[in-house]
Amino acid sequence: MDRKQSSGVQLGNSNMGERFCEVKCGHGPESRLFNIGRAHFVACDACRTYIWVGSSLMSGWRQASEGIWRRKKRSIRSYQRSG
Ligand SMILES: [Zn+2]
Repeated sequence: MDRKQSSGVQLGNSNMGERFCEVKCGHGPESRLFNIGRAHFVACDACRTYIWVGSSLMSGWRQASEGIWRRKKRSIRSYQRSG
């Protein structure tokens, strides 16, 4: 995971999820970047997998509420963690 964090790619724009998923599975458009608490994940709805990409990488994480995190967690409950 350190490799991804130090790759020099900017976080905080919507292209990130696509890039992560591209590397991982090739389903760019289907992938989405989101955070649960301070942890950031990229999930791919096409292959139903998700990867952990880091923690506290984005300044905007505070805007999310616990309700949103719970929903996100539920949305990937049946997904396989691949990283
Ligand atoms: Zn995929």
